[in-house]
Amino acid sequence: LNASQYIKEHIRTVENWPQQGVMFRDITPLLQDPKTFRVLIDLFVHRYMDAKLDMVAGLDARGFIIGSVLAYELNLGFVPIRKKGKLPFTTLSEQYELEYGSATVELHADACKPGDRVVLIDDLIATGGTMMAGKKLLERLGAEVVEGAVIVDLPELGGSKLLKSSGLQLYTVCD
Ligand code: 5GP
Repeated sequence: LNASQYIKEHIRTVENWPQQGVMFRDITPLLQDPKTFRVLIDLFVHRYMDAKLDMVAGLDARGFIIGSVLAYELNLGFVPIRKKGKLPFTTLSEQYELEYGSATVELHADACKPGDRVVLIDDLIATGGTMMAGKKLLERLGAEVVEGAVIVDLPELGGSKLLKSSGLQLYTVCD
């Protein structure tokens, strides 16, 4: 059993949540088990330990769990990209379309410097809208998004394809 398969076995699918017809990939069993949590974090640590990063950015909210531990292990700072209205200081915003309506994510204006090499972390890519918005925010501050990294890609929703065609390199643990 390789690490990716081991992790995949600890992701639970919850049917019809948060709404009818959705198969929600629940990563809490993976976090709850100390062995799978460590295997997961170690995959990310080994991938980025020689990447000469300046910062780890995480997407609200599950990207914070993985991203902050990764940042700590790599001796780097952590930057949260939050849902609208949560960050207290001067913010930049990016709005993006959802199936019904829209969402907005925000970043503090002093979160990183031009030229900073940043990895952008979340748990999952569906349509890719969230990660695309995060990438745009970081790039508006002049940062270089070296890679976007998630545990799960749902390739049938086209998000990873869209992100790659925008020039973002992606790392996904399982799909
Ligand atoms: P996207 O913007 O790519 O359509 O959706 C990805 C965002 O929504 C991520 O921030 C992710 O946390 C959340 N998300 C959407 N569907 C799921 C799911 O099935 N499982 C989990 N864990 N997160 C999801």
